[in-house]
Amino acid sequence: MIKKLLIANRGEIALRIVRACKQLGIETVGVYSTADANLMHLRFVDEAVCIGKPNANQSYLDINTLLTAAEITGADAIHPGYGFLSENAEFAEQVEQAGLTFVGPHADHIRLMGNKVSAINAMKKAGVPTVPGSVGPVTLHNAEEQARDIGFPLLIKAASGGGGRGMRIVEHFDQLVGQVQAAKQEAELWFGDDTVYMERYLKNPRHVEVQVLGDGNGNAIHLYDRDCSLQRRHQKVLEEAPAPDIPDDVREPILMACVKASEDINYRGAGTFEFLYEDGQFFFIEMNTRVQVEHPVTEMITGIDVVVEQLKIAAGYGLSYRQNEIVAHGHAIECRINAEDSATFMPCPGTVDQFFTPNGSGVRFDSHLYPGYEIPSYYDSLIGKLICYGQTRQQAIAKTLQALDELIITGIKTNMALHRDVILADEDFTREAQNIHYLEDKLLKKNAPVKEKA
Ligand code: ADP
Repeated sequence: MIKKLLIANRGEIALRIVRACKQLGIETVGVYSTADANLMHLRFVDEAVCIGKPNANQSYLDINTLLTAAEITGADAIHPGYGFLSENAEFAEQVEQAGLTFVGPHADHIRLMGNKVSAINAMKKAGVPTVPGSVGPVTLHNAEEQARDIGFPLLIKAASGGGGRGMRIVEHFDQLVGQVQAAKQEAELWFGDDTVYMERYLKNPRHVEVQVLGDGNGNAIHLYDRDCSLQRRHQKVLEEAPAPDIPDDVREPILMACVKASEDINYRGAGTFEFLYEDGQFFFIEMNTRVQVEHPVTEMITGIDVVVEQLKIAAGYGLSYRQNEIVAHGHAIECRINAEDSATFMPCPGTVDQFFTPNGSGVRFDSHLYPGYEIPSYYDSLIGKLICYGQTRQQAIAKTLQALDELIITGIKTNMALHRDVILADEDFTREAQNIHYLEDKLLKKNAPVKEKA
């Protein structure tokens, strides 16, 4: 049982977690930095605690303060949300050492998957297909030998990397050692770990990922897949479920491989296996050991509340569903709405003036915004997620366009026009699934600032 849960996060996901807790009769503790006293979810929690200064290092990333907040409020569990400490093994460990329940996987699994070299090795062992690449870490001494087997172009990646940072494409053999050296320095600087590895650079893949839930006792299920190929600078912009145009005889073995890999390691909680999909083949790239921003598209097509399931698993109730009870229906699309300048993509915090959200059957808007809300400049620019459901992909696209027309956010700049005018109005996108380069290519071709909605 969980009686009182501390939400170690902010923004839309904090509100999302409050809702799931209320559904299960769990009391909630909200935390906030001094820049965040006006967060919407703080009005719905049972207790709220200020945990420090605006800088996340002095609040949302401060493990000691979070544990103290849990102690003084009598919370018996902590949900980390996504970002911040959600994939920090030390945090998970300390939460459990303090006698609290961590709503997430065992610290060992966070550690295993947090290092992409060990994650890839674990997947190979479990029979999950990976991108052809280096065997173990790449050093200045073994880089050339390893690269010969991989071929060019190849990608150097940081083992502890994330958020699309720290990747380098190498086109020619003679650039290799210099690039490995630079990548190691960069990785040390950004991630405090200079371990790098190499993968074949796939030319035109799609990003397809599989949602799993594990009970921690060797049982796991999948909740189908999502396509997150629409990215800018390796950051997801729009996601859909299920991933379109994948033949069942290709999809099914991958879903089952993810379930088996989760069962093999006794994985606990929600997790996502990320793959590149090219020419009818799947290649594992990494596993995320937390709830993803894009989990609502999965909820729309399966009817399963991923956060409620996370809480039930953490509380020891196991899995609520057997695999054969999970059926995917229809199609769902999520648009990430960011407070950003449409021409420069720079975050654009400010004060929300008018705010009206679309509604109706199959329309969901996950957001912490309200009129008069002042968006602080210290955190991520995500201000909402518009999720629309249709029986078919075409219907989901039509509904998303209609919902975007109804969504009114004034006073700040947003990327709504990017979704409406550049992506959803584009024939290539509406015809079929696109690869990871599609959006940046489209933006390059347009080469003109996207006009804002009046
Ligand atoms: P991060 O943890 O930083 O998000 P990932 O390994 O998940 O890094 O990769 C992020 C994105 O980079 C992928 O969604 C894809 O667009 C691109 N990418 C990663 N690996 C490859 C590869 N081997 N070939 C081509 N593109 C890749």
